[in-house]
Amino acid sequence: MRSISRKNKVGKDTALANIIRMVQDAQGSKVPIQRVVDVVSGYFTPAVMILAVIGFVVWYVFGPEPALTYALIVGVTTLIIACPCALGMATPMSLTTGIGLGAQNGILIRSGDALQMAARLQYIVMDKTGMITRGKPEVTDVIAEAGFEAGINEDELLRLAAAVERSSEHPLASAIVEGTKARGLALPETASFQAIPGHGVEADVAGRRVLLGNAKLMADRGIALGRLEAEARRLADDGKTPMYLAIDGTAAGIVAAADTVKADSIAALKRLGLEVVMITGDNRRTAEAIGRQVGIDRVLADVLPQDKAHNVQSLQLEGRSVGMVGDGINDAPALAQSDVGFAIGTGTDVAIAASDVPLISGSLRGVVTAIEISKATMGNVYQNLFGAFVYNSLGIPVALGLLYPFTGLLLSPLLAALAMSFSSVTVITNANRLRRWKAKEVAP
Ligand code: ADP
Ligand code: MG
Repeated sequence: MRSISRKNKVGKDTALANIIRMVQDAQGSKVPIQRVVDVVSGYFTPAVMILAVIGFVVWYVFGPEPALTYALIVGVTTLIIACPCALGMATPMSLTTGIGLGAQNGILIRSGDALQMAARLQYIVMDKTGMITRGKPEVTDVIAEAGFEAGINEDELLRLAAAVERSSEHPLASAIVEGTKARGLALPETASFQAIPGHGVEADVAGRRVLLGNAKLMADRGIALGRLEAEARRLADDGKTPMYLAIDGTAAGIVAAADTVKADSIAALKRLGLEVVMITGDNRRTAEAIGRQVGIDRVLADVLPQDKAHNVQSLQLEGRSVGMVGDGINDAPALAQSDVGFAIGTGTDVAIAASDVPLISGSLRGVVTAIEISKATMGNVYQNLFGAFVYNSLGIPVALGLLYPFTGLLLSPLLAALAMSFSSVTVITNANRLRRWKAKEVAP
């Protein structure tokens, strides 16, 4: 028996079953506005019953003959027309449709809360690497410090950098290793590799301690940068990420890498009225240069991986609702902290578990679609609620016979029942309209 259950995940444990369960749970959840509707309905029903009784009594006492007949008609008609069943359906119909729509587009909106929140996000925070840029940087410049051991040339610098980076998983590391191989350079052996998260890497190469990383790392180690600092500034202003290389505690040069930006989804998010915030461990100059390229004004730079959640919280403390887009394990706390966390599908299970809206599509385009669907769904919810309330509030006075003294108009129970079902049909039809929603194609 055990071997069977261990071999494969079956039935309710498969990824697909998980997704289906997530969608079903979400469709069964409530939009927060529904709680307001529930409270209102709680008062509405007894209020209608009291009105019906008052109507009955008033017509019985003051109404025309046959008094009992008129009184009964008024009482019953009031009860029928006020039946809040359209009201009861208004939000669940739209929510079910909206969440289903998301699922069709590879977007799991995990609850009604997430949907309502997503529709009115103000900030959307995202990593520079992989979200705003392609996530595949390439080496652009190698600058050897002329004053260092007359003799170190650019190829040697790159070889040392690549040797150290060989053991790192950072996108910048791949850029350097690939760039070095592409130039046909062989990588020397290394020992005692160490990664310093958010700062850089170091290792022993042929008996020399090689350190590679950002200005913070160099400052921490007390390494003077001299004229390299001005070179780094120039590179950073071009949107390139400069990495200093130091050998045995002396700065020897700079290796810079740059990534391609993807601006289309950023523009789409801004059109939806969101302010896009870039978060990155990279230096401020580089981050701001890239921000300028894609039209992002708000840049959180020099952020250590463990400080992302804290940065999200600071934005929330400005009184804004903050969405976060993430993909890695170290994004999980920030995803959980945000009002709506979007996990890009290529991400880890942890990130998906910590998010409110996992995206199977695996691109920023999915975030745009998720927010568009949420806005469309909430719009539909409000239309439905408006429709349902208008029916009831217009219908009740007519049913009570308030128009009778002036026009002789009195609603029959039959017409009331018809109007009532018509209000439900309206709500259903309107919710169905959502089904026809289509993601807008964007030019790449
Ligand atoms: P991000 O994910 O935004 O790139 P990180 O915290 O991973 O931020 O890195 C922040 C900065 O630390 C990088 O911009 C780079 O300057 C430096 N750094 C981190 N890892 C490496 C590495 N493997 N090689 C060189 N520099 C690194
Ligand atoms: Mg990172």
